[in-house]
Amino acid sequence: MKVTEYFEKANGKTLISFEVLPPLKGGGMKAIFDVLDPLMEFKPPFIDVTYHREEFIYNKRASGYYEKIAIRKRPGTVGICASIMHRYGVDAVPHLICGGFTKEDTENALIDLNFLNINNVLALRGDARKFDGKFIPEPDGNNFALDLVKQMSEMNQGIYLDSNIENGEKMDFCIGIAGYPEKHIEAPSMKADLLRTKEKIDAGADYIVTQMFFDNQKYFDYVAACREMGINVPIVPGLKPLTKRYQLNSLPRLFFINLPDDLVSAAMEANNSAAIKEIGIEWCIAQSKELKAKGVPCLHYYTMGDTETIRRIAEAVY
Ligand code: FAD
Repeated sequence: MKVTEYFEKANGKTLISFEVLPPLKGGGMKAIFDVLDPLMEFKPPFIDVTYHREEFIYNKRASGYYEKIAIRKRPGTVGICASIMHRYGVDAVPHLICGGFTKEDTENALIDLNFLNINNVLALRGDARKFDGKFIPEPDGNNFALDLVKQMSEMNQGIYLDSNIENGEKMDFCIGIAGYPEKHIEAPSMKADLLRTKEKIDAGADYIVTQMFFDNQKYFDYVAACREMGINVPIVPGLKPLTKRYQLNSLPRLFFINLPDDLVSAAMEANNSAAIKEIGIEWCIAQSKELKAKGVPCLHYYTMGDTETIRRIAEAVY
């Protein structure tokens, strides 16, 4: 079923969903099942699986020179989705990015997804690779998530890259996109970012999942600004609890978000790691309860492998 159909069927009830990362290469499905098994009692109708493009690493050779090689440390998104659907009977939502894909690679990936009956996709651009400085698409790849959404919408109409294909099978993808309550780092202004988001909706995107945030007001303001701009699709809040002291600096650096003063001071005053985790969990529970009371379509938790923490939050909220 489509993600948006779950929202419609829920009739105002707030659903729950989770996002998992593929294990590092060399790991197996057990790593994913260990994360998800304890969470399935909360009945998520869908699970997201992130996509990770290749990264550059430098290997020192015998000569002393460094060799730059590209490797994908977390492959397997599509296989993991199929495996999740098979084990739990829920929908899996693969993230699909522009980076590393030519348009033809994208088309072929979408054909595979269709064959596997995976018809929900979160369409993203992807970040710049480390050492690249800025996002570089493949030659003949999609430049922005907008281009990927357009390609998917065309395939939903049976239009393939090869114009010789007549009466091509029409896909039926439900397309999710990313949204940034605190603005995307590269966008010159919030309004400019929202206009880009509107373009994706107009091109056929069906719903938005937000970047994590720790101040619910940011989400409420974002939803209001979207509505004002004529973006009327469901906007799913993405949540992640603060659990470690170093995240006070790493979350803003990696995700370009702000942490509220009250949370920062409470975490800074905590004198051990267990106390910080407790503060982060309680904060996330309070955020979740308020969002649920306001009737958001779904609470979407970034598990990042920390099942125990997410389970505690879900138990307190559902
Ligand atoms: P876009 O919508 O393409 O926007 C990127 C930037 O370009 C924005 O600043 C936008 O304002 C601007 N822009 C858009 N169109 C144009 C245009 N025509 N001209 C000029 N500027 C333009 N990354 C991964 O690699 N794998 C994942 O699995 C993954 N999952 C994610 C899940 C969620 C919920 C979120 C919020 C992010 C996720 N990301 C993931 C990160 C995402 O790929 C990055 O944030 C990326 O930098 C932007 O992706 P986007 O889809 O928002 O890009």
